[in-house]
Formats: sequence, C-alpha cells, structure tokens
Amino acid sequence: MYDIVVIGGGAAGFFTAINAAENNPKLKIAILERGKDVLTKVKISGGGRCNVTHAEFVPKELSYNYPRGEKELLGPFHSFMTGDTIAWFEKRGIALKIEEDGRMFPVSDSSQTIIDCFISETERLGIAVLRSQSVRRLIKKETHWEIETVSDTFSVKKVVVATGSNPKIWKLLEGLGHTVVPPVPSLFTFNIVDERITNLPGIATNASIKVLSEKNKAILESEGPLLITHWGMSGPAVLKLSAWGARLLEPTNYHFTIEVNWLLDLTKDEVLAHLSNFKTQNAKQTLKKYAQFELPKRLWQNLVIAASISETETWADITKSQLQELAEQITKSQFKVTGKSTFKEEFVTAGGVVLKEVNFKTFESKLHENLYFAGEVLNIDAITGGFNFQNAWTGGFLVAKALSL
Ligand SMILES: Cc1cc2nc3c(=O)[nH]c(=O)nc-3n(C[C@H](O)[C@H](O)[C@H](O)COP(=O)(O)OP(=O)(O)OC[C@H]3O[C@@H](n4cnc5c(N)ncnc54)[C@H](O)[C@@H]3O)c2cc1C
Repeated sequence: MYDIVVIGGGAAGFFTAINAAENNPKLKIAILERGKDVLTKVKISGGGRCNVTHAEFVPKELSYNYPRGEKELLGPFHSFMTGDTIAWFEKRGIALKIEEDGRMFPVSDSSQTIIDCFISETERLGIAVLRSQSVRRLIKKETHWEIETVSDTFSVKKVVVATGSNPKIWKLLEGLGHTVVPPVPSLFTFNIVDERITNLPGIATNASIKVLSEKNKAILESEGPLLITHWGMSGPAVLKLSAWGARLLEPTNYHFTIEVNWLLDLTKDEVLAHLSNFKTQNAKQTLKKYAQFELPKRLWQNLVIAASISETETWADITKSQLQELAEQITKSQFKVTGKSTFKEEFVTAGGVVLKEVNFKTFESKLHENLYFAGEVLNIDAITGGFNFQNAWTGGFLVAKALSL
C-alpha cells in the first residue's frame, strides 16, 4: 500500500517523488510508468546533453519565457527557480555549466548524468519505480483514489499526475470534470521556399520578424538571431514566434506571411538615408560587391538582386525607386511560410489542463482534493532553452512540499 502514487516516470514525476520522499522519509511512494524505460525524454533532451535550466535568476524575467503559464508560474518561481535547481543538483554531486546563450547543462554534457542521479535517488529513498504500468483509469472514492493500470489496481490517498502530453490521461482528467486545452505543436521552424534565401543555409544574423495578418497587420513580433536553413528559417527569433504563436498559427495550417527586418530596428527611412549616403560616397563601386550594414555578403547580394539591381550596376547608376526597393527588401522583406518543421526533434506541446483549475501554491486540483499536477500535463510550455524542464522542477518541488505536509 502506497501513500502517494506519481503517474508518469518523466522529469516532473521523478522530481516530485524524490523531493516528497526527502521531505518525509516515512511516506511510501511509487512512480507508475507506462513504458519499459523511464526518463526517456530526459535522455534525448538537449541533443543528449539535457538543457536542465536557464541562467535567468529574476522570477519575473524567467516567467516571460512561458507563452502559457507566465502569470501562474511567477509565484511558484519565488519558491523554486534556477538558483534552487543548480543547488539541488550540486547537492547531489552534479555541477551545471552556463553556455554563452544562458542555457545550462551538466558539466558532463550527458543527460545520462541526470538520469543516473534520479535513479540512484529513488533507490536511496526507497521509492518504487514500477515500469510497464500504463494507467487506464483514475477513480475517485470517498476516502481515497483508485488507480487501475493494465495489470494492477492501486488504492492511494494522494495522486500526482505527471504524464506529460498524453492524450489518454487528458481524457481521464476530462472525465473527472477538468477542462483540457486541446494540444497544438509549439517550437517549430518555418518552411519557406524563396530565391532570396535558397542558397544561404547556415547564414545567421540578428533580425526582427513580424507575422502578418491577411490585412498586412503585424499580429506577432520577435527579434534575435535568425538562422537560414535548407528548409527555410530557424533560430531563436523564429522559435519564439512559433511558441508565442502556437495557437494562432495552427488554424492557418502553417501558411502565413512574415516580414523580416534584416537590421532589427532600423526603419525603412533610416536605411534609405544611409543608402543615399552610400550612393554619394561609393558612386563608382558596383552595388553588389560590398555588403553594407555589416549584413552577411551573400544575403546582401540576394537582397540587391531582389531589388532589381543588376550585377554590374554601380551606386551612381541606380535610381531613386531602386534605392526605395532596396530599403524595402532590407527592412520589410516579406516571405510566404508554407509549413513547419520540427526543431532538432525538440517538440513541445501547447495545451493541457487549464490553469484556472489548479492552485499554484500547491499545484493541487481545485476540483478534487489530493489530486496534483506537475510538468507538461498542465497547459504550460516555454520557448526553447531549458525553461520546459524548469517548469517540471518547479512544479515537482511545490507538489512535493504540499504532499509532505
Ligand atoms: C527531443 C526533445 C528534446 C527536449 N529537450 C529539452 C531540453 O533540453 N530542455 C528543456 O527544458 N526541455 C526539453 N524538452 C521538453 C521537455 O522534455 C519536456 O518539457 C519535459 O520532458 C516534460 O516533463 P514531464 O515529466 O511533464 O513529461 P514527460 O517527460 O513527457 O514524462 C511523462 C511520462 O509519463 C509517462 N506516461 C504517460 N502516460 C502514462 C500513463 N497512462 N501511465 C503511466 N505513465 C504514463 C510517459 O511515458 C512519460 O515517461 C525536449 C523535448 C523533446 C521532445
């Protein structure tokens, strides 16, 4: 007989169980995992290196990375966030390192380090990890919960649901009266076929991007590094749009128009003024030969061609309308997006248990006593960079705290 059953042997499930056992060693805790292996996503995360968290130490700033969950996670981050994650792993002999862009990985550069830590902690604390236990039913009895798996039935006082983006469990939760926001993909790259970028894979530059409505109005904006790929565009600026626009872009079947400013925030008029200046200063130079504004040379050349300026034309040759067109290409290049691709296999799902049905002091259901949630089962997701795991750690920590009271 267990006091607590955690459904789901992933990041959130393990973190919850370990902290609950540590807080109260008398508790009998089991993790039920449907698969033969546990922590499978941790294993493949961060390209096999596990991007554990992100070096952002201000709760409010950290919360800005969650398109869904920003408001609700702010309070929980005051209890457990990046610094606590670092200390938690350090206490267990795992040092984390910060990369230039803020992502944090184990110094070993191996997700196996995290898995080994979790497994040895469950052994040390006497947590039962029961594999091949796919949960089929979750029944609320008068005094306890009954959990039916393919082979067993468990009667427990408290249940933690940490099943990630599993549709079957969401169905069970709907059966219990919870509302589930239907899942849509988040974190994807944009497929674009366009002569201006087809020969440029690998080129990266800082840019700002707008998603345009059918009426040519900006409905989403982001800025940061933009990477041109074989299929279109990727990089943080694109991934941020895919996360913030996850719900908005799905009904378009990922067919929409974006506008790129290759110079971040220089306006068309400012660029035009610079171009007029170049025209006077470099009159005899062919336009295509020397990239301006420190733009990557081949990108500059493609933008020049797109502005209908030929190979041989010098700055002196070009007309006012060609300059206008070039300024337009540099600051307002429009591209048709015609689909999406997965970002390094790192897919995240936007959707899950609606947040207003959860008490974020404890992550307990507001509908049912002794039913808790942690991780991606909730309608919380983040941009790439270690934030999704931080959500699992923060939720797991607070559930564990509530369980041990
Ligand atoms: C390829 C890839 C790379 C990623 N890399 C990173 C990264 O580096 N950093 C980062 O922050 N985020 C990353 N993410 C996102 C991150 O992995 C998830 O946000 C995180 O794993 C969510 O944790 P979770 O415990 O809520 O869910 P999961 O890790 O999905 O765990 C849920 C567990 O529940 C089990 N389960 C489901 N249904 C049942 C059932 N009916 N009965 C019993 N068990 C069940 C599942 O088998 C699974 O083991 C990555 C995602 C992918 C796909």
